Amino acid sequence: MYWMQRSQRGWNNPALALALELANERRSGLWVLCVLDGQYPEANSRHFTFLLEGLLDVRAALQERGIPLVVRTGSFLTEVPAAAAGAGILVCDEHPEPFGRALRSAVGARVDCAALAVEGDAVLPPALLADHAHIGARTIRPAVHRLLQEFLQPLAEPDLIGPAGSPPREGVELADIGALIRRLGVPELAPARQLHGGQTAARSRLRFFIENHMEGYADNHHRADLEVSSGLSAWLHFGHLGPTEVALACMRSAAGAGGGLSSGPGLDAFLEQLIVRRELAINAACFLPGYGTPAMVPSWAQKTLDEHASPWGDVVSEAMMEACDTPDPVWNAAMTDMKVHGTMHNYLRMYWGKQVLLWSSGWREAFASLLRWNNRYFLDGRDPNGTIGVAWVFGLHDRPFGRRPVFGAVRSMTPKGLARKFDTLAYIRKVEESLPHDQAPPDRL
Ligand SMILES: Cc1cc2nc3c(=O)[nH]c(=O)nc-3n(C[C@H](O)[C@H](O)[C@H](O)COP(=O)(O)OP(=O)(O)OC[C@H]3O[C@@H](n4cnc5c(N)ncnc54)[C@H](O)[C@@H]3O)c2cc1C
Repeated sequence: MYWMQRSQRGWNNPALALALELANERRSGLWVLCVLDGQYPEANSRHFTFLLEGLLDVRAALQERGIPLVVRTGSFLTEVPAAAAGAGILVCDEHPEPFGRALRSAVGARVDCAALAVEGDAVLPPALLADHAHIGARTIRPAVHRLLQEFLQPLAEPDLIGPAGSPPREGVELADIGALIRRLGVPELAPARQLHGGQTAARSRLRFFIENHMEGYADNHHRADLEVSSGLSAWLHFGHLGPTEVALACMRSAAGAGGGLSSGPGLDAFLEQLIVRRELAINAACFLPGYGTPAMVPSWAQKTLDEHASPWGDVVSEAMMEACDTPDPVWNAAMTDMKVHGTMHNYLRMYWGKQVLLWSSGWREAFASLLRWNNRYFLDGRDPNGTIGVAWVFGLHDRPFGRRPVFGAVRSMTPKGLARKFDTLAYIRKVEESLPHDQAPPDRL
């Protein structure tokens, strides 16, 4: 049995490929289990809508491959062992975060068969990059480049030779996603209607990026007024697309008709984010003490932030921030984009975080608000990239800079600096025009 949890895709899935290989060696059947657990940390109906849209694609792909999919609702801890009762081997996806690792250990301890976890959502196995938390991109980059060629390889997609597996239990229907989500009892949040989950939508977005924006990525990816970045993070988060497939598709396309794998400024800048930055976040999820709490902020940054209180604490409240009603119209637009569409431009996320640090009564309060909003509203939230992104605002993976009010030696960002990078008025207009017709823009946009 393959328990699909982090790599939710029916093609180009290393755990599924291994499960198929093992089934074929034994001439036995294979089935795939997916559990919808309403208790998943910080999950809400927006996240589950995207996830279930993705499962429709998984179901179609597995049908084509002759492999039964069983979707169950309930607790991972009871559903996975119960479904694995008749299995010879359990294959599952790796997970870098403490919650995911603890869950795999607990499930592994409750099944009678051998259990194997496969890394399908990092290009490189985190344990090969280090057995400790890297200090920053500059320390992990050489290790990534040393191993990249060996691991950046296309995946073989074997067919199932033996009979289709016979899952021991029936699953739920996927016909009515809304009803299924209501049954899970998760907090309600309007779906992010501009993005749809699933491998098909993810691959079409990847093609669009390669054809239109990859070449100009190095020069323009900081421009929030243009849509130059890939926009792939939500699909990467749900495992609807794997980073190896993305990197190989980009490299093949850059090589053109000549074949092989190529490089170029746009491609190199993109791979720096997709592989180096992303694997740095995964490394921190695996090894950084205090992951997910203010304790993950480096001690030099904690010290300097403790010394600098904010005069803004009483002027911009947390409620004003959540209502997109601060004195900063660009920030309000970014927060609106996040709340309505579940996303925010790459470059603006750091500014968004820095302003919350500026306005909050203390840096620990700012950390808590940012992580809560990040994980509630973003489709790509609840991910190592988000936890590390938030801690980056407070100096993680960064160095000390000249002292500034509130920020101390932590790097600051200003509205003026932002306006030098892109046309902020055009960005605000873009967000305003993207709102659904029945949604009034915030007053201070
Ligand atoms: C405060 C803050 C919060 C963030 N929250 C999240 C989050 O919840 N989920 C999330 O996936 N990313 C988060 N990021 C990282 C980054 O901003 C997003 O990954 C990026 O904006 C996604 O847009 P894109 O797919 O168009 O990125 P692109 O620019 O097209 O980059 C391609 C891919 O590279 C990866 N990537 C890009 N930037 C980073 C980065 N700084 N660190 C790690 N990986 C990166 C992502 O997987 C991304 O999809 C956060 C950053 C900050 C500063």
